[in-house]
Amino acid sequence: MIRTAGIPVSKGLVIGKVYLLEEERSLRVGRQQINPDDAPAQLERFELARRAAIADLDALHEESTGEMGEEAAKIFLFHIGALNDPTILKPIRSMIEDGHVTPEYATSHTLKKLADRFAKHPDSTFQSKVDDLRDLASRLLSKLSGKSAATLARVADNTVIVARDLTPTQTAGFNRKHITGFVTDLGGRTSHTAIVAGALSLPAVVGTKDITARARDGQTIIVDGINGTVILDPDEKLIALYQERIKAAEQTKISLHELASLPAITTDGIEIELLGNIEFANEIPMLLNEGGQGVGLFRTEFLYLTRSNPPTEEDHYQAYKNCLDMLEGKPLTIRTVDLGADKYTQLQEETPERNPFLGLRSIRYSLVNQQMFRTQLRAILRASAHGPVKIMFPLVTNIAEFRSGRYFLNEEMEELAEEGVKYNPNIEVGMMVEVPAAALMASSFAREVDFFSVGTNDLVQYTLAVDRTNERVASLYTPIHPAVLRLVRDVARAGRKRDIPVSCCGQSAADPAFAALLIGLGVRTLSVTASSIPLVKRTIRALDTKRCERIVKRAIGFDSEAESSSYVLNRLKKIVPEVFGGRPAN
Ligand code: PEP
Ligand code: MG
Repeated sequence: MIRTAGIPVSKGLVIGKVYLLEEERSLRVGRQQINPDDAPAQLERFELARRAAIADLDALHEESTGEMGEEAAKIFLFHIGALNDPTILKPIRSMIEDGHVTPEYATSHTLKKLADRFAKHPDSTFQSKVDDLRDLASRLLSKLSGKSAATLARVADNTVIVARDLTPTQTAGFNRKHITGFVTDLGGRTSHTAIVAGALSLPAVVGTKDITARARDGQTIIVDGINGTVILDPDEKLIALYQERIKAAEQTKISLHELASLPAITTDGIEIELLGNIEFANEIPMLLNEGGQGVGLFRTEFLYLTRSNPPTEEDHYQAYKNCLDMLEGKPLTIRTVDLGADKYTQLQEETPERNPFLGLRSIRYSLVNQQMFRTQLRAILRASAHGPVKIMFPLVTNIAEFRSGRYFLNEEMEELAEEGVKYNPNIEVGMMVEVPAAALMASSFAREVDFFSVGTNDLVQYTLAVDRTNERVASLYTPIHPAVLRLVRDVARAGRKRDIPVSCCGQSAADPAFAALLIGLGVRTLSVTASSIPLVKRTIRALDTKRCERIVKRAIGFDSEAESSSYVLNRLKKIVPEVFGGRPAN
C-alpha cells in the first residue's frame, strides 16, 4: 500500500483502477533487448507506428491549412519530413535490426541524441526544433505503445488516469462513462485542467510530484479529491472505509441539494445572485438542478479544445442557442475565447512562447486573430436575438483592448443590420478583471464597460506572481492576501460609484471564506462551478453582510496573508460554525 498526497482540485471520492498515461513528451525509455529472431517483426511494428504517425500528421496538416493557413500548418510538414528522413530512420532501423533493441528504445535513443545535438547547435533555427523532435518521439512512442487518444476512449469502466500532466484538451476529451478520476504529478489548484475536472465532476488530485513513478497499470487506487490523498493498492480495511465515505458524501450531496429551490439570501435579507461557470453546454441542466440562476461565465474556448477543427460561426451560434434554450430566459454571459497560456495555442506554434501566461493570450490573441474573433462576435450577436446574452472580454489590461473589442462588435452589428439579421443592439458588454493593472484602473474602465467580472484565478496569479498551474509554488497561491483583497475592493468601489454590476467568477468565489469577503466588499453576484453552488448557497444563507463588511475591513489591513487568513477563518468559525467547522459561540 502506498499513500501519497497532492492538491485536491475537484471534490469527490473514487475507488478505481490505474491507467498510466505515459508522458507524451518523455524521451526516457530504458534499453531493452529483443530476441534476434524477433527483429523483423519489431521492424514491422516500427513501420506501422511510423505510417500511423504520418497519417495523423497528414490529417492535422490538412485540417490546419484550411483553417489556419499554410504558415501555421508548416509545423506538421517538418514532422512528416522527419518521419521520412533517412538520417533519422537509418539509425533507428539498424539499432532494431543489428543492435536487437526494442523499437521504443531505438526511437527514443536516436531522437534524443539528435535533440541534444540540436540543443547545442549555435544556430537558433536548430535549437528551436528541439521541442519538435521531442514531440515526434512522443508521437512515435504513443503509436508504439498503442496508448493513443483512441485507446484512451476505450478504457475499462472505473478507470483512474494517472499522468505526469494533462492538458485541458486531454481532460475535456475523457470518456466520462469509463474515466472516473485522475491524478497527476504536476499542476495547481486553478489550472484549467483542474477546472475541467470540476466541470466534469471528476474527483482529481494534482501536484503529487511522483505518482507516475509509483503507480502501475491496473492497480487499485483511491482518489480523495476532498483532502488530496491518493492511495495505491489499499488494503481491504481502507477500501471498506472509503466505501463508507463515498456513501456519506452522497448523503451530504443530497442534503445540500435540498437548498436548490431556496433563495441565496443573507440573514439580513440581501439577495446574492448565484450563477454558474460552464465549459460545455451540457453542464446547464446540472447547474439549474443545483439552483443556479443563469450562467456567469461560459468559457467558450472549450469549443476549440474539444474538436480538431476550429468552430465555424454556425458551431458557435448553435452552442449559444442551445445554452439559451436550456436556460429558458435566465442570463448567459459569454466570454470571448480565452485561448493561450495553458490552453491550445502553444501546441500550434512552431516556436512556443517562453512565457505563455504573459504572452499572446485571451483578448490579445483575439485582437491579432481578427477573423476568428469576428466569427465569434457575429455568432454571439445572432444568439442575442434569442435570450439575455451578455458578452465579456478576458484579460483586458488596457482601455484600448476593450475599445477594440467593442469596435469589432459594432462593426459586426452593422454587417448584421445590413443583412437584416436580428440581434440585440443593446447587448451588455463587460470585461473580466484579471490583472492588477485593470483592477487599479477600474474607475477609468467603469466609464466604458457595462459590468465587471473579477477573475480571481488569474488575478491572484498575476498579483502574487505565482503560476496557477505550478505545484511547486501552490502554497503561495493565496486568494485571501491583503493585496488581492485591496484590488477587489477597488473594483467593487469603482463599480458602485458608476452603478455598474460587479461579479466574481474565479474559483475562489466557491470558497466559503472568500465568498464571505466578496460579500463584505459589496460583490452581489457570484459565479461558480455547478457542483459548488449548494455549498456557496448554504454559506450565503448563514452570513450577515454587515459582519462580512467588518471582517473584510480588518482582513484588508493586515500586513501578511497569514494574518489575514487566520483572522478570517477564526472569525467565520465563530460566527457560522455550521459552515466553517468551528464550535458555536456562546
Ligand atoms: C479567472 O481567471 O478567474 C477566470 C474565471 O478565468 P479562467 O479560469 O478561465 O482563466
Ligand atoms: Mg482567467
